Amino acid sequence: MTGLIEKVLAGDLVAAAKLITMVENNRDDAAKTIKEIFQYTGNAYIIGITGSPGVGKSTLVSEMVRIFRERNQTVGVIAVDASSPFTGGAVLGDRIRMHRHKPDDAGVFVRSMATRGHLGGVSVATRDASFVMDALGRDVIIIETVGVGQVELEIAKMAYTTVVALAPGMGDSIQAIKAGIMEIGDIFVVNKADHDGADATVMDIHNMLTFRTIKSKWEPQIYKTSAVSGKGVAEFIDGIEKHKRYLKNSDLINKKKYDKEQLLYLVKERVERWILADKFGKEYFDKYVKRIIEREVDPYTASENILKEMGLHQV
Ligand code: GDP
Repeated sequence: MTGLIEKVLAGDLVAAAKLITMVENNRDDAAKTIKEIFQYTGNAYIIGITGSPGVGKSTLVSEMVRIFRERNQTVGVIAVDASSPFTGGAVLGDRIRMHRHKPDDAGVFVRSMATRGHLGGVSVATRDASFVMDALGRDVIIIETVGVGQVELEIAKMAYTTVVALAPGMGDSIQAIKAGIMEIGDIFVVNKADHDGADATVMDIHNMLTFRTIKSKWEPQIYKTSAVSGKGVAEFIDGIEKHKRYLKNSDLINKKKYDKEQLLYLVKERVERWILADKFGKEYFDKYVKRIIEREVDPYTASENILKEMGLHQV
């Protein structure tokens, strides 16, 4: 693995792809890898882009990549499909083809993440993949999510700039978008602005934004783009740069670099593995569940006992 890591640090894309696969598939490999590469990360600028299927995210991301490349930035793209564990694969296949408009450009590295395990697992795997891309030396990492709800919110936490993409003519698309998604957007993009109704969608977003509960000095910006022609995309990227300057000037950028829930997730994951696998074994846990079902012990006492038996007397 060390050889692989050295290659990644030297910018080897094949090594990076292998390492991400390892990190994605095996939690012990992930731990070993991140321990080694972490000191080389923290330099990439992470952009999250989310929105309903069909609004043109993949097309827009391809355009973004093209512009970042024009501006001499190297780019990593992580496409996270959390919409369905069953159809995810096929959808991702399409996305990857879309992003590969210039397969010979070593400055673009695209990776897909399928839904795997539970929610926290997707976001942890995505974050670990982003650490590998960061160590690879990417200037910009774009995390594209499709799907609904919690995964997008989780992934938005790891992005420095979160972009919510919408399109006109999708009827109730704004209403359909969960309030949570409106809360997380630093930048809103009305893509397919070549279609009728783009201005109305911009107005709808304006109106929705007045209900935001999160108050910050940053006024969310709305851009109109047409990803197929590229119109408006450069201005939208300038908007991302503006948000980046805001974060840097207000020192919020550091807060974005790691969020305590991720750490908590790792601790919980380890405790869970400890209980279920290493220390006590699954039977130990099952035995407690059985006792709870039979009303021999209540769940609160059981959880306290488990912690005590783990040696965590203070908890
Ligand atoms: P995603 O599901 O959000 O990733 O959307 P895609 O990027 O796959 O795009 C869905 C469809 O919309 C494709 O047929 C694109 O060619 C088309 N599309 C994307 N952007 C635009 C745009 O700005 N204008 C128009 N007219 N079509 C677009």
